[in-house]
Amino acid sequence: MSHYVFVTGGVISSLGKGITASSLGALLKASGLNVTIMKCDPYLNVDPGTMSPYQHGEVFVTEDGAETDLDLGHYERFIDVNLTRYNNLTTGQVYSTVITKERRGDYLGATVQVIPHVTNTIKESIQRVARINDATITIVEVGGTVGDIEGLPYLEAIRQIRNDIGRDKVCYIHVTYIPFSRAIGEMKTKPTQHSVREMRAIGLTPDIIVCRTQRALTPEACDKISLFCDIDKDCVLEARDVDCLYEIPLLMNEQGLARKVLKRLGIEAKEPDVEPWKRIVGQFKQKKARKARIGLVGKYIKVADAYISVIEALVHASLPSEVGFEPIWISSEQIEKDGSGKFLADLDGVVVPGGFGDRGIEGKISAIQYCRETGLPFLGLCLGMQCAVIDFARNVAGMDGAHSTEFNPDSPFPVISLLPDQSGIVKGGSMRLGAYPCRIADDSRAFRLYKSSLIYERHRHRYEVNNEFRAKLGRKGMVFSGTSPDLQLVEIIELPEHPFFVACQFHPEFKSRPQNPHPLFVGFFMAAADHCLKAS
Ligand code: GLN
Repeated sequence: MSHYVFVTGGVISSLGKGITASSLGALLKASGLNVTIMKCDPYLNVDPGTMSPYQHGEVFVTEDGAETDLDLGHYERFIDVNLTRYNNLTTGQVYSTVITKERRGDYLGATVQVIPHVTNTIKESIQRVARINDATITIVEVGGTVGDIEGLPYLEAIRQIRNDIGRDKVCYIHVTYIPFSRAIGEMKTKPTQHSVREMRAIGLTPDIIVCRTQRALTPEACDKISLFCDIDKDCVLEARDVDCLYEIPLLMNEQGLARKVLKRLGIEAKEPDVEPWKRIVGQFKQKKARKARIGLVGKYIKVADAYISVIEALVHASLPSEVGFEPIWISSEQIEKDGSGKFLADLDGVVVPGGFGDRGIEGKISAIQYCRETGLPFLGLCLGMQCAVIDFARNVAGMDGAHSTEFNPDSPFPVISLLPDQSGIVKGGSMRLGAYPCRIADDSRAFRLYKSSLIYERHRHRYEVNNEFRAKLGRKGMVFSGTSPDLQLVEIIELPEHPFFVACQFHPEFKSRPQNPHPLFVGFFMAAADHCLKAS
């Protein structure tokens, strides 16, 4: 039977609970243990697929096609595992399950209540993840902040699990925020005390408190937390702000996070091997004289989390390079107003990531045209690929007014459209989601990068390249270097004469790992680094 580590958050949201949970997972895995991890999200959406990136940041897609919380991206990158739909539970899913059962009569006349019906459903979902993965340790992060009304059923469920399986098999980690008062010149622990009091009122006592701070945790602050929160001093850990996320497993390891958890759970394991993390952080911190300026042309540039996997994939690709990476956020709407040249002239590469809706679409198309015409390295992801096809159709293949039917249903050249069997589609359903196979043409750039002729990549889109126009685009020089095995769906396009012009219908960013950067991002970054070195 699995042991469990429950991670809760106190005082403020966006504390880095997900990174703490991921780091613990990475350390436990590096100790040779079989660990799995899941996120419980207390909102009523069934999944974040319908939420705006402004609300929620990126929607992370798993191999099995679930649209999940972006923390699953951190989990996959830190622990180097592929997760599934079961690793993200939402209140929307819990209530759907309970209400479906109620309508079916499964509850045999009982009054259906939060306790036990909702809490039992939560517990079953948590235990299912442990069971499916045959995990020695299952890490469960509870989203939101202790004290939120909507989080209560989860806290009750994780309290009950302790009772169900025995207190020696569970460990509670509370991640909290320690503000620094400039006026008094002191770190303040009161919000943490209140948060822990709130937990204790519902029967939970943290075994470990991880304190997010901007500066080093003072011994006084540590003493106070230990005294008021009734916790050993050596179980009060510091999580200071860092530049490189991948340093957190190392900082947590220096403070013995995994060792303390294992001691609490009575599990013996070797010390974690953190050499790979040291290597990554070393590469990240290495002084690099030149930095490739990579423009990200998108709609949600004010929300850093909206493209988090894309940014991380670029970081991964840049790690082994002698050239560093500098992201430059560019609003596609601003390009529409002022033209591409103003924003792209001093860049070394451009990424046009995925997106929905027509706002800023012409700006994206014009940025791609600029890259195509000037030889600036370009990588297009999903909508980015669709825009590349639109630009090429309009400006190379003479198809005036070419567009995607998502944005102009009456376009004379609907080069991007729904497939015939997709008609009658409504928002929220019918997307192509998750991993699909892709065959790669032998003599293509894609083949040289992947070094494989069959790959699997994750999708999240409705529209596809319209096969009616493929021959004509091909005659003008566009190469369809990746397609579905039955040749019906375009997966990768490229322009062979260009220094680097590659775009894909899928989202390669979801599969990039710090230890194993994604080939398309590596190829793109090498071209951008070349551009950067030539320009200097
Ligand atoms: N809006 C486009 C589609 O649905 C692209 C989606 C995306 O970029 N994820 O096909």
